[in-house]
Amino acid sequence: MQPSVTTSLHGKRGLVVGIANQSSIAAGCARAFVAAGATLAATYLNDKALPHVRPVADTLGCELLLPCDVRVPGQLEAVFEQLRSVWGRLDFLLHAIAFAPADDLHGRVVDCSPAGFGLAMDVSCHSFLRMAHLAEPLMPTGGCLLTVSFYGSRRVVANYNLMGPVKAALESAVRYTATELGPKQIRANAISPGPISTRAASGIAHFDELLEAEAAEAPEHQLVDIEDVGALAAFLVSDGARRITGNIIPVDGGQHVVA
Ligand code: NAD
Repeated sequence: MQPSVTTSLHGKRGLVVGIANQSSIAAGCARAFVAAGATLAATYLNDKALPHVRPVADTLGCELLLPCDVRVPGQLEAVFEQLRSVWGRLDFLLHAIAFAPADDLHGRVVDCSPAGFGLAMDVSCHSFLRMAHLAEPLMPTGGCLLTVSFYGSRRVVANYNLMGPVKAALESAVRYTATELGPKQIRANAISPGPISTRAASGIAHFDELLEAEAAEAPEHQLVDIEDVGALAAFLVSDGARRITGNIIPVDGGQHVVA
């Protein structure tokens, strides 16, 4: 049978973790998933975040909107338990979350505290492995796990600091997950967008300079937006991408090829 070349997610159910507001990368991806026909569940960090997340989730017609702070014991597990009891299965998930304490993020990598390093790794990397572990039983006929990285994982980007090693670990986690779950037709990929103005990005010092450099250096001389990321995300979770796994895929106007 020929794989479909049209991105259709009709009949697919996905979990989106990482919507803070309508400007989040997760929101752009969620819009693309729904536009392609998917049914979604989404999460919100806590009660303070809910008023910003709910309007996005409502517009997307999310069937479930659940609390999820991956630092709170049992909360991530409760999300997957809800998915199991309401849907019984899951076709894809998007992990689009990251965190590092400001003091550690704004200092040199060699100075970061053990606690800050551990927390950044836990929220930004280990949570992806936890989600893969919890999704596996809900994907008996296969599925797709997506996360979001940044080229500061491979190259030293001024002010990206601690998040560089954390994203490097996340990218490695994607490769191991793809290999371990591949026999079950569960795929794992990371999208690596160029810089985009979001709430998390505002925590990186001099982020505006990163945006300016990106626009100057990228072959297309255009900044990436969350719709660009969403278009790739929707394709990656579709059946058309069924042999694409273990990759870190840039969406950066070609910036990664420039020396
Ligand atoms: P954002 O602020 O919109 O989203 C970050 C999300 O992380 C928020 O929804 C927040 O609630 C969530 N989060 C933080 N701590 C959490 C926790 N303990 N439990 C659960 N969720 C938690 O920012 P964004 O830029 O859309 O970030 C999404 C992902 O994209 C991140 O992994 C980020 O590193 C990555 N990324 C961003 C850029 C960029 O330039 N904006 C570029 C490349 C990669």
